[in-house]
Amino acid sequence: PLRHMGDLPAMTADRYGEKTALIGLSGTQSFTELNRAVDRVGNVLTAHGFGPGDRIGLFVPNTLQFPSAYFGAMEAGLVPVPLNLRMDRETLGFVIADARIDCLIASPLLAEQATELASASSIGTTFLPGLSDPDAGIVNYSHALAEVSTDFDRPERAFDDVACQPYTSGTTGDPKGVLLTHENLLTTIESYDTGGLPIDPDDTGLLVLPLFHIYALNALMGTFLYTGATQVLHPQPEPVPMFEAIEEHDVTRFAGVPAMYTMLHRTYREAPDAYDLSSLKTAICAAAPLADATRNEIESAWNVRMTEGWGMTETAPAGTTEPVRGVRKEAGCIGPPVPNIELKLADPDSRETIVAPEDLAPTADRAIDFDKQRVTGEIAVRGPQVFAGYHDRPEKTEAVFDDDGWFYTGDIARVDRDGYFWIVDRADDMMIVGGENVYPAGVEDALYAHPAVAEAAVVAVAHEVKGEAPVAFVVTETDVDQPTETTLRRFVLDRVAAYAHPRRVFFVEELPRSATRKVQRFKLETAAADRLD
Ligand code: ATP
Ligand code: MG
Repeated sequence: PLRHMGDLPAMTADRYGEKTALIGLSGTQSFTELNRAVDRVGNVLTAHGFGPGDRIGLFVPNTLQFPSAYFGAMEAGLVPVPLNLRMDRETLGFVIADARIDCLIASPLLAEQATELASASSIGTTFLPGLSDPDAGIVNYSHALAEVSTDFDRPERAFDDVACQPYTSGTTGDPKGVLLTHENLLTTIESYDTGGLPIDPDDTGLLVLPLFHIYALNALMGTFLYTGATQVLHPQPEPVPMFEAIEEHDVTRFAGVPAMYTMLHRTYREAPDAYDLSSLKTAICAAAPLADATRNEIESAWNVRMTEGWGMTETAPAGTTEPVRGVRKEAGCIGPPVPNIELKLADPDSRETIVAPEDLAPTADRAIDFDKQRVTGEIAVRGPQVFAGYHDRPEKTEAVFDDDGWFYTGDIARVDRDGYFWIVDRADDMMIVGGENVYPAGVEDALYAHPAVAEAAVVAVAHEVKGEAPVAFVVTETDVDQPTETTLRRFVLDRVAAYAHPRRVFFVEELPRSATRKVQRFKLETAAADRLD
């Protein structure tokens, strides 16, 4: 078994050799070529004096440059910090300073931003293909790579050394640096490979989700590589190029987030005959709640099975995945735990166990106890996939673990008779309306059922009588009759408990979203309070 992320390309080169590992816009790379490229990167970084523990920012979109930079850095013991290319300057500056980044590998596609970043921060060396400026610390990366050998002696690193430091999405506040060890990343990949994700060596995956996020980085790129599948790297998350890539490369597995599926389907609907998606077998969805309506429409229009998963940056991101075969459940079901991980449900306040890991293994003649199916609780996770701690935030780290090694995720879920999890919402987003618990996701689901609703987000505002009350922000479809506030409120009232219906509906052009396109409800809470003032 592998004990070092830097060994992953070498292992796959031995096994799969000349088979195509990567397809990028600029060409292809076999497993052997990728391994050679990784060794070159290791040599370049070592030759420039970087080594174990140094933080290296990756400022590279989904191109062939990314995998070799990522694995090459880890092979040389450096800790990659994948940077969000779409982040505003301020947040990017925050992450670079927070991680104390020593050097940067940048894409020529982002040369201008990269040189600006490097001069505005403390980054000493920037590796940039095709450009050299010794005064500004810019090293011509393509030249450097061409000059070094493809043999590399890697420094010793332990299984539990930090391998990578990705940042969380920043959905609930500032992004947090997450310390992931070789063990965390590799055991997660093994969990996905041994049944967590439907990926086989003869599959072709489309990697269009940004690689700076753990979902694309480890769940997809890591697992596709480990499994020996081919992956198509696409830097442009726009619908038409994505559909074209699926068609051109006979992509079998697609992976996205709900906001991406909504956008894709809007384009698809306009000209369903324009795209041939017949090669597609599965569409994987994770990262945020998927509305039932979205999933049903896509499944029937694209003739594909959608499968949901749940995970977090902190769990690298192992959690649960819905099996591709087996009973079909409704959207919101995130499936059973992936292999070799423990999950349980606990009381979010007392942390008392509600559904223990043992309860989650129903047998043919014993389903999960009905009483346990009725309660919701906070998901807690334990296993070799769970992170070593937050970078520079010891109190935060201490607060999320208990003495038995359980990590409390802040996500509320319930389980069904088969031991499958159903995500409810984040504990922190729950509001108490006149004594009743209301989760925004349930109300948003009801809004999404309305044909004119393109995007919806529900947040709490202070209410004189009820304590808190829900209000909604809605983006409407442009090509339909526009609903009024009253229409939408009545529509939801028919579908949820009366106390949960939104007291106001605000129509907006767009919703504030995080790095991974999740709705930042904390920004909407302020906006709602302002509007009601
Ligand atoms: P931050 O921690 O910075 O506020 P974040 O929690 O969104 O941001 P990530 O680690 O990218 O950062 O995302 C993990 C979270 O995404 C989970 O805790 C959960 O709330 C949400 N999530 C993941 N998968 C799903 C899913 N299938 N359905 C609903 N929510 C999901
Ligand atoms: Mg989080």
